[in-house]
Amino acid sequence: MQNDGEELQNDGLESCNGNERESFKDSRLVEDGNERESFRVPLGPGGKRIRVSRGDPVIFKPYWTKMSEECMVEIKGCELLSYLSDLRSVCWFMMPELRDAIKRLHALVGNAETSDRYIVVGNGSTQLFQAALFALSSSSSSDDQINVVAAAPYYSEYQDQTDILRSGIYKWSGDAMEYDKNEAYIEVVTSPNNPDGCMRGPVVNKKKCGVEGKLIHDLAYYWPQYTPITHRANHDLMLFTFSKCTGHAGSRIGWAIVKDKEIAKKMTKFIQMSSIGVSKESQTRVAKIIEVLCDSYKNFKLGSKESELFFEHSRRLMKERWEMLREVIKQNSGFSLPKFPRVYCNFTNESTETYPAFAWLKCTEDENCESYLEKKMKILVRGGSRFGSDPRYARLSMVGRGDDFDEFLKRLSKEHLKD
Ligand code: PMP
Repeated sequence: MQNDGEELQNDGLESCNGNERESFKDSRLVEDGNERESFRVPLGPGGKRIRVSRGDPVIFKPYWTKMSEECMVEIKGCELLSYLSDLRSVCWFMMPELRDAIKRLHALVGNAETSDRYIVVGNGSTQLFQAALFALSSSSSSDDQINVVAAAPYYSEYQDQTDILRSGIYKWSGDAMEYDKNEAYIEVVTSPNNPDGCMRGPVVNKKKCGVEGKLIHDLAYYWPQYTPITHRANHDLMLFTFSKCTGHAGSRIGWAIVKDKEIAKKMTKFIQMSSIGVSKESQTRVAKIIEVLCDSYKNFKLGSKESELFFEHSRRLMKERWEMLREVIKQNSGFSLPKFPRVYCNFTNESTETYPAFAWLKCTEDENCESYLEKKMKILVRGGSRFGSDPRYARLSMVGRGDDFDEFLKRLSKEHLKD
C-alpha cells in the first residue's frame, strides 16, 4: 500500500487573511502553545523543492475571500445538538436545507439529474465511495469478493480505499481495460478523469467476461470550470464532492445521487456505522455557500461583472493556468500534454475547452517523469505508476497555490533555456 497519503495530507493551518503562506505551517509542530514554525517541504524561490503533487483545491481561495461576509454562518450554542435531521428521508442525517441546496446547484449547472433520486450526504465523496462499495457488494448474489476495477490511469486512492480494511465482500482488481474474469465486478468510472482529464464511460468488455457489472460514476470534476457541461448525467449511482466544486475541501462534504432506494438505504447504513452521520456544522456551511453561489446567478444582471459569478471566475482562472502551462510546454520539447476537443457547453452556451484540475504530463526524454522532475527541477509530482500507468507520465496539480504554480512554470521554462 502506498503511504504518502498525499491526496488527504494537508499542510496545516489556514487563514482568510490573504497570507496563503500560513497554510504551509506544520500544525504538528505547535506545542505547548509555542508555535514553532517549520515547513516540511521548504518552498521556492531559491531552489527549494516545490510540491504540485496534491489535489488540494486552494486556487479558488481569493474568490471566497471576497465573498467572506456573504458566506458567514452563525451557529448558536443551543443549535444542532441532535444526531437526527429528517426522519422521513432515507438519508436521515442529511439536513433538508443541504438537500435543497444541492438540487438547486445541479439545476443551475445542468450537470446531473436529481428528480426522483435519493441523495445521500457523506464525509467527502471518499466516505461515499466506500459506502457505495459496501452497498453494491452486499446487494450482490455472489458469495465471492466482488472485483473493483477502474480503467488506468485511475485515481490513485481507489486502490487503497478499497483494500484498507481487507473487506470480505470486495477487493481491488486493477485496470478495467484488462478485466476478463467471469466474476461479479464494480467498475468505477471517473469522468472527467483524475489524473488525465478525459471524459469517460465504462470500458469492461461484458461480452468477454460474460457478467453484468455494477457502476459507480465518480463525477467529482464534472463542473463548468473544468470541463464543458454536455449533458445532464443520469447514472444509477453518481458521486459528487463539494471539495472540487467550490474548493471547500476542508468542509468534507460529498453527496451521492442514487436511483435505487435499497442502495441509498445501504449507503446510509454504512455512514451510520462509520460516523453516525455527517457534521451539521459542515452541512449548514455548505448549504449557505451554495445558496450564495446560486443567488449570485439569480441576481446577475446584464452588464454586471461576470467575475462575480463563481463558475465564470473559476473557469477563467483554470483557463489562464492552462494557457500558461501550454505555452511553456510548447517551448520545451522534453514534455507533452494531452489535447482536448472544443465542445459546446450547455452551461455557458458556448463552445469551450477543457481545463482539468490536473495536468497529465508526459516526459519524452526520461523513462521516469516523477524522478526526472524531482532531480532536475526539484518539482514534486505524482508518477504514472501510482495511477496504474506508465512512469513516463506524471500528474501535477493545476489547482494549488498561485506562487507554487508560478514557480513551477519558471523552473520548467528555465530548464528549456539551459538546453
Ligand atoms: N474522487 C476523485 C476523482 C478525486 O479526485 C477526489 C479528491 N481528490 C475524491 C474523489 C475525494 O474527494 P473528497 O474530498 O470529497 O473526499
